[in-house]
Amino acid sequence: MSRFRMHPTGGQEQQMLLHCAHARYVWNLAVEQHAHWQRGRKSAPGFVEQCRQLTEARGDSEWLGAGNADVQQQALKDFAKAKDARFTSGFGEPTWRRKFRHEGFRVIGTDRVPEYNEDGTPRLNAKTGKQVMGRSVVVRKLNRRWAQVKVPGCGWVRFRLSAKGKGARLPSAKTFRVTFRNGQWHAAFAVVPEPGPAPGTGEVIGIDRGVRITAALSDGRTLNCPQLTVKERAQIRKHQRRAARAPKGSDCKPAEYAKAARLKAREANRRKDWCEKTSTMLAKSFDLIRFEKLNIKNMTAKAKPKPDPDRPGRHLKNGRAAKAGLNRGILAQGWGLLRQRTEHKAPGRVEDVPAPYTSLRCSDCGWIDKNSRKSQAEFVCSSCGFTCNADTNASINVAAGQGGIFRPRPTAGAGGTTPRNGSNVREPQPEQAGIPLFQEGEDVNS
Ligand SMILES: [Zn+2]
Repeated sequence: MSRFRMHPTGGQEQQMLLHCAHARYVWNLAVEQHAHWQRGRKSAPGFVEQCRQLTEARGDSEWLGAGNADVQQQALKDFAKAKDARFTSGFGEPTWRRKFRHEGFRVIGTDRVPEYNEDGTPRLNAKTGKQVMGRSVVVRKLNRRWAQVKVPGCGWVRFRLSAKGKGARLPSAKTFRVTFRNGQWHAAFAVVPEPGPAPGTGEVIGIDRGVRITAALSDGRTLNCPQLTVKERAQIRKHQRRAARAPKGSDCKPAEYAKAARLKAREANRRKDWCEKTSTMLAKSFDLIRFEKLNIKNMTAKAKPKPDPDRPGRHLKNGRAAKAGLNRGILAQGWGLLRQRTEHKAPGRVEDVPAPYTSLRCSDCGWIDKNSRKSQAEFVCSSCGFTCNADTNASINVAAGQGGIFRPRPTAGAGGTTPRNGSNVREPQPEQAGIPLFQEGEDVNS
């Protein structure tokens, strides 16, 4: 994905906000149609049927009819894609889009370019034998730093060719998505990076992802995802405090919230940048990249409320805020993105190793014991005495593809017998008691 900051004029901004409103309206209609569906009913309308309904709706509603048909149809297309990918994307069923929260729309290129097969021959229509013409986004370079792109109803909109856009090269794609968040417009071109060649050295790297150290590599390196500085965090709190104290309905309130949001956006940008750089490094320097298999969705599940024994019908508060904080910490590390981008850049060279016991298994002798993990950072094998940084030890296990295979060694002297399964063979849990990181009952041996 190449993403660029857009700089529309005031008039263009108004038009683009209207596009956002139309796209959101159409998307939410589609969500509503599908939410209405129940077992036994006729299936909800698909993309083609929805497009027909859209044409009808455009005739009935003046507001919708005045908008751009392509933008509205692309919203339906996005919905169809999200619906198709609901089991694999990790986002589940497509949900409502909200004003101010999810502002964006997709633009389909208006340029027509001939399409080619993979072997370089022109792609021909199977029925008519004519050349198949594909879409292409119309972009124009202005100078070294600036370019512009055609947006329906707005003409040329300028965007800045950042260094992130790969040496100020112009993006070429069939469609692009315009988003408006935290007062900034961005254009994201759906460009999947070309997978580079493997280095061919046969080297295998294991990566253990954690909250303290974002990525511990099996060659001993520890990589950290940049986060907000202490000063930036203080600034966010300051703006949030000012916003909270501002009188209701004043201009100051939204302005202060916007300032806080802009600072928070900085963190997300840094994280994305770090993931891109790190995944490129991994894809370029190693033949096989092994990640420990994580279920981030389960790990960041909300803490279950506990009933309060003293006040029937009410719930205890303790622990839930802490779990929310831990969730924020996990999500701030960009674990999922790193894995995804590495897969894009090194297709077929990324593997998932089941996570249980990777942090408790001695990478030297294979002994699994919870007592070996002395603390968050220290690993001392209770069988052979091997010492190592706990995260590095785990990543070496991941590199070796070891972890899920539980091999008790009853003959080993120290450490005693390790039960085959049961909750006491686990990583040291966070200080806050009673907040499971993994869901209970998860089959660790699978
Ligand atoms: Zn050992």
